[in-house]
Amino acid sequence: MPSYTPSLLRIAQVAIILTTFTPAILGISVGDVFIVKTGTTNGGCDGKNIDGWFDDTVTLANSASAGAAAVDQDSRKYLMTFFSIRPQDDATKAGAPSPFTKLTVLMLEQKWTDIAFDDVTGLPRTDQKKVEDVFPKDTNGLVPFWSDDLRQYLKAEPGDYCSDKDNLAATQDQTGPSTVTLCIDNFASTQGETLASVPSVTKEKVSVSSLQVHSLTLFHEMFHLVLGTAGTPDHSYNLNSIVRFGTAKATENPESYTFYALAYYLGQTTQFTFANSKSAKKPSPITPKRSPSEIDLGLLARFQMDTRDVPRGVWVA
Ligand SMILES: [Zn+2]
Repeated sequence: MPSYTPSLLRIAQVAIILTTFTPAILGISVGDVFIVKTGTTNGGCDGKNIDGWFDDTVTLANSASAGAAAVDQDSRKYLMTFFSIRPQDDATKAGAPSPFTKLTVLMLEQKWTDIAFDDVTGLPRTDQKKVEDVFPKDTNGLVPFWSDDLRQYLKAEPGDYCSDKDNLAATQDQTGPSTVTLCIDNFASTQGETLASVPSVTKEKVSVSSLQVHSLTLFHEMFHLVLGTAGTPDHSYNLNSIVRFGTAKATENPESYTFYALAYYLGQTTQFTFANSKSAKKPSPITPKRSPSEIDLGLLARFQMDTRDVPRGVWVA
């Protein structure tokens, strides 16, 4: 039997998670979901357009939810392009967990033999215990980082993550609460900030990959955050690869959701459809040949028991 069905449930799950924060959405702001680090130093977000980016994630989530539930031919084509979900598959059944958490922390790299910090006072321990005494040592080359914001240790690759200019963001769910770190200085200066600054599309064959804005980075991280880093390995950021993924791979890949949501949004707000990932003339409305009521729900239910054993992620970008 095809193995796409559990993944179908997951895309729906995302759509519904996002929907669950959608109805309350009038007036919801980033502060309702994240604790945003203040200040302008040590990773503080003051002066950055966090509010605008967050508003876009809500807009995109609304649009993507509507898209996943819609049965018209154009809407279903987006699901086929970005997730290999066929018109007769059901993309709308699911449950709805909803953890939302924390944005940006500063972490101090230590050595395993350094004096550990105290998780109550945040100061170096007075009993001189070392990091390796209070936090299980890693055997894969990861080093301990102390987060004063969270008063806890976590393990990561040595070095300043954002000093690698290729890194745009990371989500961490080893921490409690989970965290999203945005490497804002690495965001492309040639891109706009929000959906409002997506370049206007005036012709056909403009790829959705050329219409990127900064808020999409936060949107991408939301999928790591909500679905968990272990279940969301970044298979690819490249659109040409993404459209060739099967459903199972696409529904793990945050950038697939990101491209889908942006494409669907642009399809609703411009004169073009982006159903096959590039701008094209909109089709004339046609009644869908099949509706969700024709879907074999028994088949879906059988696959609901499926679980996966994936190593717990540390950092994902
Ligand atoms: Zn990622």
